[in-house]
Amino acid sequence: MEDTAFDVIIIGAGPGGYVAAIRAAQLGFKTACVEKEDLLGGTCLRIGCIPSKAMLEASEKFREAKDSLGRFGVKVGQVSLDLPAMLQHKDNVVKANTKGIEGLFKKGKIARVLGHGRISGPGTVSVDSGKGATTLTAKHIILATGSKVAMLPDVKPDGKAIGTSTEALAYDKVPKHLVVIGAGAIGLELGSVWARLGAKVTVLEYLNRILPGMDLETAAQTQSALAKQGLEVDRRKIQLTEAIKTLGEHTVPVKLHRDVTAQVRVTVKKEE
Ligand SMILES: Cc1cc2nc3c(=O)[nH]c(=O)nc-3n(C[C@H](O)[C@H](O)[C@H](O)COP(=O)(O)OP(=O)(O)OC[C@H]3O[C@@H](n4cnc5c(N)ncnc54)[C@H](O)[C@@H]3O)c2cc1C
Repeated sequence: MEDTAFDVIIIGAGPGGYVAAIRAAQLGFKTACVEKEDLLGGTCLRIGCIPSKAMLEASEKFREAKDSLGRFGVKVGQVSLDLPAMLQHKDNVVKANTKGIEGLFKKGKIARVLGHGRISGPGTVSVDSGKGATTLTAKHIILATGSKVAMLPDVKPDGKAIGTSTEALAYDKVPKHLVVIGAGAIGLELGSVWARLGAKVTVLEYLNRILPGMDLETAAQTQSALAKQGLEVDRRKIQLTEAIKTLGEHTVPVKLHRDVTAQVRVTVKKEE
């Protein structure tokens, strides 16, 4: 890389990072954006908002064609699912969006640096591309490194039997029975995608409501709409066992489903 001195370096090219990079360039700063993945756009564009919305839209079209167009007097023949084509459509949407960011980077003359970035000193960013390291300097550094999937303690996803939202965006066949742990927005949207495509879907949630953080009335409406699509929400209460009779930290096994057990950490403390 020829030019290594910048006004602004941003580490991470998700919605936080790429917007900051584009704005910095618009304001006349000489800008670089360091990203370790080949595609720009971060979680949102690669494995989050965009692919999940593409799958939601596609699965909704499938469900409409199969179950509800007849009501409107629209007759369709035998409806069947071409899952590889649906996944391809999702990949095309992701590609179009990430290419859009690439275009904006080129327009703004933003240097795109591929590799893992780390602040190695005041005003200095080292980028490890896997083939070697480059050192960049900047007057300003912005960290926009995003977040990671939160795992249950002691559960190791293998990407097949147990996976995260990333795998659930690309199953190569419709699962017979999908158990989603957590009735937040991501679990519900991916659960509803696969329910519409024919999977039995059980969402496990230990709170007495879905979508914590959302207005209660909206959450209740959403739950009944999802139930109509066949999405079952199953509440499991953590049974406090004999083991938890002393103050302190405990790890308790909780049976979530027939053959799924999670280890839950519980802290027992005196009421203040
Ligand atoms: C399935 C799913 C659906 C979602 N749907 C929605 C939605 O509908 N609406 C919504 O608002 N949000 C949604 N989200 C959340 C949304 O994706 C995140 O809020 C958003 O991506 C956060 O943006 P960010 O820029 O902070 O981080 P990220 O998008 O995570 O980007 C961070 C980037 O930094 C890179 N990076 C990290 N460390 C380094 C390093 N040391 N060196 C170089 N690069 C590094 C990462 O590779 C990544 O590309 C969804 C998330 C998921 C998983």
